[in-house]
Amino acid sequence: MYNAKAYSAVSATSPLASDTIARRDPTEHDVQIEILFCGVCHSDVHSVRDEWSDFMSTTYPIVPGHEIVGRVTQVGSAVTKYKSGDLVGVGCMVDSDGTCPNCKAGFEQFCQNTVFTYNSPDKHKTAPVTYGGYSNSVVVDEGFVLRVPTNLDLAGVAPLLCAGITTYSPLRHWGVTEGKKVGVVGLGGLGHMGVKIAHALGAHVVVFTTSPGKTEDALRLGADEVVVSRNADEMQKHAGSFDFILDTVSAKHDINAYLNLLRLDGNITLVGAPEKPLEIAAFSLITGRRSLSGSMIGGITETQEMLDFCGEHNITADVEVIPIQKVNEAYDRLLKSDVKYRFVIDMASLKSE
Ligand code: NAP
Ligand code: ZN
Repeated sequence: MYNAKAYSAVSATSPLASDTIARRDPTEHDVQIEILFCGVCHSDVHSVRDEWSDFMSTTYPIVPGHEIVGRVTQVGSAVTKYKSGDLVGVGCMVDSDGTCPNCKAGFEQFCQNTVFTYNSPDKHKTAPVTYGGYSNSVVVDEGFVLRVPTNLDLAGVAPLLCAGITTYSPLRHWGVTEGKKVGVVGLGGLGHMGVKIAHALGAHVVVFTTSPGKTEDALRLGADEVVVSRNADEMQKHAGSFDFILDTVSAKHDINAYLNLLRLDGNITLVGAPEKPLEIAAFSLITGRRSLSGSMIGGITETQEMLDFCGEHNITADVEVIPIQKVNEAYDRLLKSDVKYRFVIDMASLKSE
């Protein structure tokens, strides 16, 4: 074992603060990574503040962070995919059982035994739970390490590891292509990636935002139209017209208002994970045979496909790079929807801790 620097929270009401954590020495299938950048996902906030306790409670201390890019510093004796010096990424998962039907089908995220990058029981027993990317170093099984396209800005790549794949996967699953009318609800970290990817897939993209000040940005990011969702008249103009809507909202909101915008057989996929349940009116679904579904990140093969797609289309996140000392302020700003459009921590800032 060796010591790594990190930022952790010791309770649901504590700020994140400097800490020292144990990491395992690389075993034969492991890759040790010097973390260069880590994105700040709204899931980090939900987890640190234990807002998902009905689903998965948080074990403290928690070290969040699952949008990791870095450089390989060491590899285990059996590692074949990576060598020292390679640029790599790690997303929301670091392991799974590898034997169940979902794993075999490439859906490691839906394995009963997925090990998430943070707050999952640590099968190596280095610590009670896994510790995430708000740290200068991490050790991960090579099967859960991704290759990063070398033509892209590294800070802007970090958010692809969660926000990118979480939006890419349902857009692909629901057949978004040229000629489809696609809505993206919420222009935050996930939403802005959804806009870029849906645009690159050739769809007609409409952004729904509660923040009128984001209109120009939405158009620049690739939206064809922008609707301020608090304006009922603007909403009504789109009734019954969408093939697909991706809902990325992090807090409780009226999903019926969006279901009513779907055409026959249209689908809304929830990727946002609000703390409180959403209410669904039966009539929002039964009229138009509409469907509502959910989606969680994406499998490892699909994540590599997404990274390669972003490399080919020159897609990265729009980021505000921050030193780790500003992470608590960034959390407060996320709660005010004040992010353009992803905070990314420059891990060099940990050196002074
Ligand atoms: P974010 O950057 O904070 O963006 C969320 C956006 O939702 C905000 O920018 C805002 O957009 C809108 N919003 C916030 N509060 C709202 C409210 N009360 N009513 C209506 N709209 C509101 O968050 P994120 O990192 O993109 O994450 C979004 C959600 O996805 C979180 O719940 C996160 O945990 C979840 N998530 C899920 C997965 C998965 O695998 N399914 C993966 C990652 C994250 P406007 O200003 O444009 O309205
Ligand atoms: Zn995330």
